[in-house]
Amino acid sequence: MVGAEAARSGQSRDPECVIALDVGGTGMKGAVVDRSVKPVATLHLPTPRADGPEAVVDAIAGALLALTDMATERGATVRHAGVVVPGIVDEDLQKAVWSANIGWRDLPLGAILAARTGLRVTLGHDVRAGGVGECVLGAARGAQNVLFVAVGTGIAAALVCDGRPVRSGGFAGELGHVVVRAGTACACGGTGCLETVASASAIATAYGARTGRSVAGAADVAALVETGDRAARAVWSSATEGLAEALAAVTTLVAPELIVVGGGLAEADRLLLDPVRDGLTARLTFQRVPLLVRAELGDRAGCLGAGLMAWQAAGHRIPITLTGASSS
Ligand SMILES: [Zn+2]
Repeated sequence: MVGAEAARSGQSRDPECVIALDVGGTGMKGAVVDRSVKPVATLHLPTPRADGPEAVVDAIAGALLALTDMATERGATVRHAGVVVPGIVDEDLQKAVWSANIGWRDLPLGAILAARTGLRVTLGHDVRAGGVGECVLGAARGAQNVLFVAVGTGIAAALVCDGRPVRSGGFAGELGHVVVRAGTACACGGTGCLETVASASAIATAYGARTGRSVAGAADVAALVETGDRAARAVWSSATEGLAEALAAVTTLVAPELIVVGGGLAEADRLLLDPVRDGLTARLTFQRVPLLVRAELGDRAGCLGAGLMAWQAAGHRIPITLTGASSS
């Protein structure tokens, strides 16, 4: 466990637990999760993305074993492991279908991790798990029709319709690649995708292109908006209008009652949410206007969602159906 930074919290000594792991492009967040879906021990490790997909699989298996040791030290038995990863994930087949970030393709990751660790493992998608986390434990508690949008380096979404996450073989939820205006080439091969206008990286890039001054990230642009910087305001307005445009299309098509905005950009809070809400409302005529709120779980959403997924796979009832399969 070289380089591991383990932190322990809480006093719970429940004899049963699950382990949860959220694998991101740069880091992995893991937790030992008790029956009340409270993390009782946490683990943060880097994702060795530069070393290739096999190294990432090794690191995930290592993290699951480290979390198992942490659970054992607490006297708890691990019932199940939930692992969530980015990209296209087919929960029914338990496959990591594709990830631009990590580089795997059609990888039966659930089965591989189960074989490597001896654990029962359920594989899920990071943003769908985050959406379910918000639906069960966060800003969308009790809602049955929800759009969870994570706006960070990229933009992804999770849709819950009539209490069920929409998965469609893992291809659902790619809100970042809805075309909102003619223009910039997107990493996906398209042009004018929402991600080229409203992601945190697009906002920082657009500000640099407009002013010739580079900024460290979208948070800097947000700070400049508050000082009245004209270029920052133009870039910000373009981003919030793009988001409103895409959210209006989703609202017309699937009518969420609630839109929950998370990801790094949501830290801008009202500076982001107010213009997006106004732009969305202005675009709707007959449609039911959804409530638009900030996510509550922050960067813990994916890991907590993985914990919920694991508890459900272990036979516990939670209010939302998460995945149809697990590997053991
Ligand atoms: Zn795209």
